[in-house]
Amino acid sequence: MFMRKRVTKYIFVTGGVMSSLGKGLASASIGALLEARGIRISLQKLDPYINIDPGTMNPYQHGEVYVTDDGAETDLDLGHYERFNDIVLTKNSNVTAGKVYNEVISRERRGDYLGETVQVIPHITDEIIKRIFALKTKGDVCIVEVGGTVGDIESLPFLESIRQIRSQVGKENAIFIHLTYVPYIAAAGELKTKPTQHSVKDLLQIGIQPDILLCRTDRFLSNDIKKKIALFCNLNVESVITAKDVEIIYEVPLIFHKEGLDHIILETLKIWTKEPDFSKWESIVSKIKRLNKTQKINSKQKTTTIGIVGKYIEHKDAYKSLHEALNHASFDNNVKLNIEYVDSEHLEKQSPKKLLGSCDGILVPGGFGDRGFEGKISAIKYARENNIPFFGICLGLQMAVVEYARNVCKIKDASSIESKKKSNNYVINFMPDQKDLDTKGGNMRLGKYPCEIKKNSKVHSAYKKTKISERHRHRYEVNPEYHSSLTKNGLILSGMSPDGKLVEIIELKTHKWFVGCQFHPEFKSRPFRSHPLFREFIKVSSH
Ligand code: GLN
Repeated sequence: MFMRKRVTKYIFVTGGVMSSLGKGLASASIGALLEARGIRISLQKLDPYINIDPGTMNPYQHGEVYVTDDGAETDLDLGHYERFNDIVLTKNSNVTAGKVYNEVISRERRGDYLGETVQVIPHITDEIIKRIFALKTKGDVCIVEVGGTVGDIESLPFLESIRQIRSQVGKENAIFIHLTYVPYIAAAGELKTKPTQHSVKDLLQIGIQPDILLCRTDRFLSNDIKKKIALFCNLNVESVITAKDVEIIYEVPLIFHKEGLDHIILETLKIWTKEPDFSKWESIVSKIKRLNKTQKINSKQKTTTIGIVGKYIEHKDAYKSLHEALNHASFDNNVKLNIEYVDSEHLEKQSPKKLLGSCDGILVPGGFGDRGFEGKISAIKYARENNIPFFGICLGLQMAVVEYARNVCKIKDASSIESKKKSNNYVINFMPDQKDLDTKGGNMRLGKYPCEIKKNSKVHSAYKKTKISERHRHRYEVNPEYHSSLTKNGLILSGMSPDGKLVEIIELKTHKWFVGCQFHPEFKSRPFRSHPLFREFIKVSSH
């Protein structure tokens, strides 16, 4: 008797016309469509830039750096992948041109190519293909998103690699989905298909015929428009899918399903599955819609306004996971959430009461550098002294410790080593074994670490357990030389590393809710399972 070998199938997602059409969300949603039918999936992002990872990139340009359990600093799209799907990703899920070239060049220096001329094809492309195939064991279907836009010079080796995979594994095992743009031109009163036609032409030139088109647009495409696109792009009309703008990102899988995307994917890949179950998506979307509609006036609806004190406030992508974690917590608590971004530099010139007076809770998120340092301290002092719920994340915890050391422990010049001003009391500092490492990024504590929680603490009643694991991304720690002075003065170190050396969580006993954590809980929040700390923070901040 022959056992049928399990074959991994691939879905390659490319983008055309321009960036920011939502390729990451589309890929995450394709994952959700397949998971709803019981298929095991995995996701991967190929990024054509030369940086090894986005860890060193400016969040203004690149948005948030998302951290995986195994400590990889990755593209923010991996955040969408994990939030939309029941998966835990690893460093293999983000491949950059930098990683690929680094590997090939190191091999060349070691003499591994035995005198060959090392070239983009086949050496770079073979390395890309190897990294795509490395994902095989993780799922029955691997969804691979190619970053950038078709037509960019730097995307070419990646597109060539996926073209080769398709000819290697056959069209029943690998399909191409292309996301394009169909703009509505008000002056003509028409939807225009030309940019889509051109973008498909660009793909054809490099040997890729898309199997399915996702057309980003502000309205549903009529059958006539679909027919026209299908004709010019060599497709069946059913393979032209409307990817309509949505207000709620969690609605994308439902819209794709209504358009028949899962059906056409399965048909093309020749996969048979059970009927899909979208009930959890339907219920979360209807809950969000209800929350968005309700007004405070004349309603029993609970609301909260959270002030986020940071420095990347004009660039919301820099706080993507944070935003989503707050949203998830508000869905769970049935609370209507308003977020106010407050520039920490403004808090250096104006009173916190003026800038944060309308906030029910104050959150100081993670960050790097000393810009707005004193502004954050002033926001935290205001929250602590006025019993306003406070949540400090990573840098937020560090600033809370500095504030407490200065104003409660009376260590007047207490500071963090990250501040440009000199001090004799760095309550936030390198750990001794880190000091000699000089590559930026090389000395960071990255990825998941265990933490032990004290019983009878506020965070224990949130987590309801004593052993947790959370994701880190930071260089500095609470300086162990000051642990006893901080605790003597009432600061509770309610979460510690198992060896008792590193402070992971702080809190105050007499305050309504004043909690700081050294890790980034936002990376583990999910729409269907909000994070305990965010859930409690929103709960105590709402009315
Ligand atoms: N800049 C601080 C550190 O490196 C905090 C980092 C963060 O908030 N992620 O420790």
